[in-house]
Amino acid sequence: MVRFTVLASGSKGNCTVLSGGRTRILVDAGLSCRELFRRMKLAGEEPATLNAIVITHEHQDHVNGLAVTARKLGIPVYFTEATHRAWMRWLQPRRQMSYAQWLEMVRKQAAERQAEPEAAIEAAETDPDEAEVENPPLSAVASRSDAAPDRAAIDKALEDAPDPAGCRPPTLKENPSWLPAVEYFQAGRPFSIGDICLNPFTIPHDAADPVGFVLSSEGVRMGFATDLGYIPPNVREQLRDLDLLLLESNHDLEMLRDGPYPWSVKQRVLSRVGHLSNDAASQFLAADYDGQAAYVILGHLSENNNLPELARVAAERALLGRASLLANRLLLAAQHEPLSAISF
Ligand SMILES: [Zn+2]
Ligand SMILES: [Zn+2]
Repeated sequence: MVRFTVLASGSKGNCTVLSGGRTRILVDAGLSCRELFRRMKLAGEEPATLNAIVITHEHQDHVNGLAVTARKLGIPVYFTEATHRAWMRWLQPRRQMSYAQWLEMVRKQAAERQAEPEAAIEAAETDPDEAEVENPPLSAVASRSDAAPDRAAIDKALEDAPDPAGCRPPTLKENPSWLPAVEYFQAGRPFSIGDICLNPFTIPHDAADPVGFVLSSEGVRMGFATDLGYIPPNVREQLRDLDLLLLESNHDLEMLRDGPYPWSVKQRVLSRVGHLSNDAASQFLAADYDGQAAYVILGHLSENNNLPELARVAAERALLGRASLLANRLLLAAQHEPLSAISF
């Protein structure tokens, strides 16, 4: 069974869980680890069963809980190389690195990881630095022990390590960008994680190397396109023959123009590397979308410059006559609570 659950969508955090076959991945980790685990449990998903985290781009609302979550679960993170590099710079903004120095650091980290595979299981769970890096949870319900993976397994792994002190991964303070494992992918080159196939494509957005995805598993195809200034032909091409489409519907143009943001921010959002407006999303749905998806989910709605009803009405108008029991069921992903899981 394939299950697609948007845990959060919007400028305060983005995160989706996808299960397909025996594989379960997170796309983006923009919530604090604690909140992310709490929402997974709310949605009936078990954090300890995640196999990997995949990152679309390095903006904070997509990576906020990344380091803590990956450390806690001991799972690999998939980035493009440029996104990984930008993320590390974001975490260590004061440290100026040449490309050669950065390469050296990545090489060193890879060697460390190879030398101590067991150590990755050690979680940041007991790391007192955690709170300094994580944002406060949106809602502090889950306790630390709730969120932890199997404690006995961690203790055993630590016992089994020949020299626990020597094998300890660096704390967040010592090295905030240390991850249990890093895998690189490139836009335009499909790859697999277990039973899930991912096809990353470039999107126009003001990040180092941002991507959208078509994810497929068990014959189900899901398109993932948020954080894009407009929909260029390569993205239009990708968003076809889908069973599910998650599409950005970020702002209402009038609300943005009349809204509270400074002019420079308004310019950025409106630009070709900003975010997709309700109008642009519905233009795509009316003119370029093939109408095949069972579900169309509107996501990354601005809390300041949009209203769910405006986004919904614009998309409904665009899909006029196309909605049926089998196709184009329209849903809105929210910032503060998970969307019910969609199963195929
Ligand atoms: Zn975003
Ligand atoms: Zn972004």
